[in-house]
Amino acid sequence: MQVTRNTFNDVMVPNYAPAAMVPVRGEGSRVWDQENNEFIDFAGGIAVNVLGHCHPALTKALNEQGNKIWHLSNVFTNEPALRLAKKLTDNTFADKVYFANSGAEANEAALKLARRYALEKFGEDRSEIIAFKQGFHGRTFFTVTVGGQPAYSDGFGPKPGHIIHSEYGNLDMLAEMMSDKTCAVMMEPMQGEGGIIVPDPAFVKGVRELCDKHHALLIFDEVQSGMGRTGKLYEYMNLDVVPDILTTAKSLGGGFPVGAMLTTKEIAEHLKPGTHGSTYGGNPLACAVAEAVFDVVNNPDVLNGVLKKEAIFREHLNRINEKYNVFSEIRGKGMLLGCALNDEYKGRAKDFMVAANNHGLMCLVAGMNVVRFAPSLVIPDEDIVEGLARFEQGIADIVAEK
Ligand SMILES: *Cc1c(COP(=O)(O)O)cnc(C)c1O
Repeated sequence: MQVTRNTFNDVMVPNYAPAAMVPVRGEGSRVWDQENNEFIDFAGGIAVNVLGHCHPALTKALNEQGNKIWHLSNVFTNEPALRLAKKLTDNTFADKVYFANSGAEANEAALKLARRYALEKFGEDRSEIIAFKQGFHGRTFFTVTVGGQPAYSDGFGPKPGHIIHSEYGNLDMLAEMMSDKTCAVMMEPMQGEGGIIVPDPAFVKGVRELCDKHHALLIFDEVQSGMGRTGKLYEYMNLDVVPDILTTAKSLGGGFPVGAMLTTKEIAEHLKPGTHGSTYGGNPLACAVAEAVFDVVNNPDVLNGVLKKEAIFREHLNRINEKYNVFSEIRGKGMLLGCALNDEYKGRAKDFMVAANNHGLMCLVAGMNVVRFAPSLVIPDEDIVEGLARFEQGIADIVAEK
């Protein structure tokens, strides 16, 4: 059956507007479309393909598990899930893991756990969730309401209640909002969708102190920042601030849908049998792939390599900007970088993304003003240089239009 990009308009719900080309094959950080045009991939499936496309270790794990057992449900446990949970708890603050299938589901579990914990420990009045403007936590109705962009949660009827938003980076405002009604504070330790915003470490430390003072749980959403992307397994390790609950997804599966919520033994106790669940959560195929991702990423050479690759990106982006003067700032950490457009190009991030695509580079935006790169952690240095040369050609087109 012949399908093309036009088929999308015929048969798909129109909630997405995908690019004009249809990728069919990928290897490492290169992708080919239906016409066999080649692209360099700085998009990484939106910060998911942490080891590029068809990494041999992941393909092997998928094939091996695919020939053993695919699915069991949670009526039975399984070896890949147990091994992955062991590795996640051995290498983080956490003692316990709950598996889900996506970032939103991991966050939904985190929020429900925080509410249940507060209810059982402190009583009914402690139900308020505080989150941050421009934050993003997924698209289920609870998580999208906790997210800090009302445009995403408006228009679906009554929203889940007792959710308020503070300004990211403004500790005084958060201090004002917190009280003995505060159940939990949920935040990204670096905002992704909101525009690649790296907080002042003192702000994050201050949030932890406020949570301690008010007996509120601190939930770190590391769905985008996690699994090696910032040069540590999780960004909290760079910040030296330990959350009570951490959520991880995207890079965790390297392209296979999986998510996880990590927490301490004491908090985990509050999700007793029957309180929450998922048919697929902890599925053996997903966990086998995630275990392979974990084994490759949790290695000093890969993690330190992320910072070396960041330096290559920054050097070339600064050089490009000296020539074309389009960015106000290059921000982010490791393999999660944002090129913030200056006032002259305000609101045009998507134009830059499309122009780059025309020259054979896949990249992302984060809001209207930031071009985002979330490539593989093991992208070859030559692909970074070649990809940025293509990006520069796209920029040249936009600058020439003026
Ligand atoms: C992408 C993202 C999510 C949602 O993950 P899904 O897998 O799309 O549900 C949640 N939080 C953050 C920080 C994200 O970047």
